[in-house]
Amino acid sequence: SIPLGYFGGIGAASQNGILLKGSDFLDQLRKMDTLFVDKTGTLTKGNFEVQDINSLNGFSKDELLTLAASLEQQSTHPVAKAILSATNGQILKTVHDQQEVSGKGVKGIVDQQEIVVGNRGFLLQHGIQLDENSFAEPHTFIHVAVDRTHAGTISIADQIKPDSKQAVAKLKEQGIGQIAMLSGDNQRVVDYIASELGLDEAYGDLLPDEKYRRVERALASSGTVGFVGDGINDAPVITLADVGLAMGGIGSDATIETADVVIQTDQPSKIPLAVDIAHFTHRIVW
Ligand code: ADP
Ligand code: MG
Repeated sequence: SIPLGYFGGIGAASQNGILLKGSDFLDQLRKMDTLFVDKTGTLTKGNFEVQDINSLNGFSKDELLTLAASLEQQSTHPVAKAILSATNGQILKTVHDQQEVSGKGVKGIVDQQEIVVGNRGFLLQHGIQLDENSFAEPHTFIHVAVDRTHAGTISIADQIKPDSKQAVAKLKEQGIGQIAMLSGDNQRVVDYIASELGLDEAYGDLLPDEKYRRVERALASSGTVGFVGDGINDAPVITLADVGLAMGGIGSDATIETADVVIQTDQPSKIPLAVDIAHFTHRIVW
């Protein structure tokens, strides 16, 4: 039977916008010693904005943006939203055979030309040689190629959530020995955000299955492993972790269903709060 105090813990969590899918997860949260954290939408707002456009090889900035936006029309990724909202009234092109590859980008055919839009790895994988761009900032770079010619780069940036830094500090104080950020974004952005937040470990350029394998390895060697993500591509890792947390603010239904703990706001500070509630419940039960 479940000690009565656990219902108090679940109730206290729920009053704070934290839904626990069972009393076991109070124990797991209390014991958690390793936490993996997604970047986009979890520690950052997931609200990218276009900062700059660098067109190359005879393409204009306008052509570049129109092509990228055309390819992104069907995508719900935060990158796609940024590119689409940067267009102003351009008529988008019809895209055939549009295909989105999770953690990489999108490709398709426009006017019988093959268009590839995505990160560096995605373009290299398509045999496209990238011309150096002139951006120095730690931004996310979305490259565009037309029939294997690098047509240019769109620089986009996100913002760190106001309570991310405090949340990381509190989790460290609570004795969570290893806190690591996992991201598909480039390592320079990842390193920049990690240093702003005081995170000791941060891994970038990861594909969704590489995130999965990192968590899998930690499960084999650590005590209790948590993962927190915002839901875009994160459902399998959330299921895998001992404690899978979903930031429910913008999370997909699939993630909310698979998560053990659902944070109903977009505030990372709810993670240490959940851990606090777990410790408090344990003290009053035992
Ligand atoms: P994160 O780990 O930060 O949540 P994702 O794994 O979703 O990021 O994506 C990793 C990277 O793949 C993005 O930073 C972007 O460069 C590229 N990417 C993903 N989806 C798209 C898309 N629809 N269009 C262009 N690039 C994309
Ligand atoms: Mg993500």
